[in-house]
Amino acid sequence: MRLSWRVNCPICNKEFHIAGLGIHLAQIHEARIQDYTELDALLRKYIKEVIAPKYTGKPSPKKGKTWEELYGVERAKELKEKLRERNRRLGIFSETATGDKNVMHNPIVRAKWESVIRSEEYRKKKSEIQKALVNNPEYKQWWYKRYIEKTYGAITKVSQQLAQQGYHVIPLHHKYPVPDIIAIKDGKVYAVEVVSYPEQINPDKYKGITYYNDIFWIVYNKSGDTND
Ligand SMILES: [Zn+2]
Repeated sequence: MRLSWRVNCPICNKEFHIAGLGIHLAQIHEARIQDYTELDALLRKYIKEVIAPKYTGKPSPKKGKTWEELYGVERAKELKEKLRERNRRLGIFSETATGDKNVMHNPIVRAKWESVIRSEEYRKKKSEIQKALVNNPEYKQWWYKRYIEKTYGAITKVSQQLAQQGYHVIPLHHKYPVPDIIAIKDGKVYAVEVVSYPEQINPDKYKGITYYNDIFWIVYNKSGDTND
């Protein structure tokens, strides 16, 4: 049986998904979901039964593929709109309008908004909302993913620019294969991987990586003894 995760706000009675209620309570009523025992329990249940099983630590077969690749252009468009709708409903994510759709391009609107965001009241509210968001697992996951992509993108770009200038560049963001040791001799750079068993040797790890002159796989403990 599928549980409905929809609930009503204990204060204004508006309907929400349990994952968005905490934000709503904090944003609109300056209240905490933890103070509503049943709702808090339901949220924990949601995290345990729906959110947690998704994060098993195993790489997803969908990893690295775009929605278009997975579902086709039409279906991907549908799914993206569905996701946006869901996010809007949960009140977790905001969207930025581009071009003329962005009201911030209107100087009057902009000036008004700037006076609001500089106010003490707004800052206080903002920090409260942020505190509530920090406790939301779905938001955390989204934020972390975005953070990784951003740093990865920046490091990749700077690496390319340095390489164009003739540098030997070794990016060490964890989305690149990071060896156990980097050994340098006679102007050559070697990635050294230290493993306990031959089965752990995985040359695929460096597939497409050209900035190491060679990769050394060293089996440190052939006997299989563990000296821990
Ligand atoms: Zn409410």
